[in-house]
Amino acid sequence: MIRLTRAPNIAIAALWADALQQAGFAASVQRYFLGSVAGELPPDQCQPEVWLTHKEDEPQARELLHSLQNMPQRRWLCSCGEVVEGGFEQCWQCGAAMPTAPGASA
Ligand SMILES: [Zn+2]
Repeated sequence: MIRLTRAPNIAIAALWADALQQAGFAASVQRYFLGSVAGELPPDQCQPEVWLTHKEDEPQARELLHSLQNMPQRRWLCSCGEVVEGGFEQCWQCGAAMPTAPGASA
């Protein structure tokens, strides 16, 4: 197991791990808790990490991750008020899916 990257929050970590898994990599999300007693911290104080099971997959996995992190910029306003940037189709604040706008281009 090797650590690929640290994600800003658990939703993004899950998104990256999911994309890696769909591409055929054995990836998983590990929560790294700040401090020694995890139970004393609110959930958003943990730093999720994306780990790769097979070290030999690392170059390709990093390449995919890089493309995920550098998607064409796209931003949308969620109903919760959060502006979601960076090509994510799910709000990292409330988890809502990106609204589809029929007829709208990009
Ligand atoms: Zn939202």
